[in-house]
Amino acid sequence: MASPNHPPDHGGDSVETRSSELRKDSVTNRWVIFSPARAKRPTDFKSKSPENPNPKPSSCPFCIGREHECAPEIFRMPDDPNWKIRVIENLYPALSRNLENQSKQPVTNTSRSIVGFGFHDVVIESPVHSIELSDIDPVGIGDVLLTYRKRIEQITQHDSINYIQVFKNQGASAGASMSHSHSQIMALPVIPPTVSSRLDGTKDHYEETGKCCLCEAKSKHFVIDESSHFVSVAPFAATFPFEVWIIPKDHSSHFHHLDDVKAIDLGGLLKLMLQKIAKQLNDPPYNYMIHTSPLKVTETQLPYTHWFLQIVPQLSGVGGFEIGSGCYINPVFPEDAAQVLREVSLT
Ligand SMILES: [Zn+2]
Ligand SMILES: [Zn+2]
Repeated sequence: MASPNHPPDHGGDSVETRSSELRKDSVTNRWVIFSPARAKRPTDFKSKSPENPNPKPSSCPFCIGREHECAPEIFRMPDDPNWKIRVIENLYPALSRNLENQSKQPVTNTSRSIVGFGFHDVVIESPVHSIELSDIDPVGIGDVLLTYRKRIEQITQHDSINYIQVFKNQGASAGASMSHSHSQIMALPVIPPTVSSRLDGTKDHYEETGKCCLCEAKSKHFVIDESSHFVSVAPFAATFPFEVWIIPKDHSSHFHHLDDVKAIDLGGLLKLMLQKIAKQLNDPPYNYMIHTSPLKVTETQLPYTHWFLQIVPQLSGVGGFEIGSGCYINPVFPEDAAQVLREVSLT
């Protein structure tokens, strides 16, 4: 794998001869310490414990036929009793959708407190309890992505919302409280710090080089696989072991501009990555996050805002050093993770 950004002696050497290295990613704007001495070989990396020692229940309120036990429904696809995907309110929302009238005060740089207005929705990805997202075919995963798009388009009608975060917690240690396959959409009145930091990083890169650093993904990161419209990579300064980004090949600022054809294409590549991670890493809990741009992005910001989807298998915890410094220690070089994931055979 050719990469202009790492010393050539990292190419095919054994882990034992590596020394620690700090890398800064121009997208996350964050330093990561690569510390091979703390790791086993990349191929030995596995999720340690069985995900849930208690057997999964065979049904739950997210299952088809138990809709009356859930928080209110927002919409379903298709709109009939035999739904495939449902969007509902979160029963325990982090933000309240009922505070919009009190949320009109402007947010300034010195604001220290604002009303907790926002949306916190749940996307039930399948009517059947035992089906996981990676079991669904690419068209069906594309439908889940188009469901995110539809709900985001609805939320953008609310003027006080500035950022919409789509995320999935799969497995109890990744934060999922329900084992039935689902993801979540959180709409916030403020722009979160990782988004601001990312915009600072991609802006600096654009001002220095005149290029969007995510359009350059194939030359700046370590390619795993690609589809017609997307490429999956291990990022140059991956924060976490076996972290994967799926990036649109064409410049696109907002996830919700995804069209139907690209949704199916992305569904296929997302399925492939989830299957490879599950097979290689012993079915670990994982999170994925869709990193899109703030809703009110300006004309001048458009050239360096480019959305992507980040998958993080939960293989190592976050400790005091990470919380204290904001720097992360990653024991697996991403060029090794990319090679391992490229070579996973699913047959
Ligand atoms: Zn269920
Ligand atoms: Zn771009």
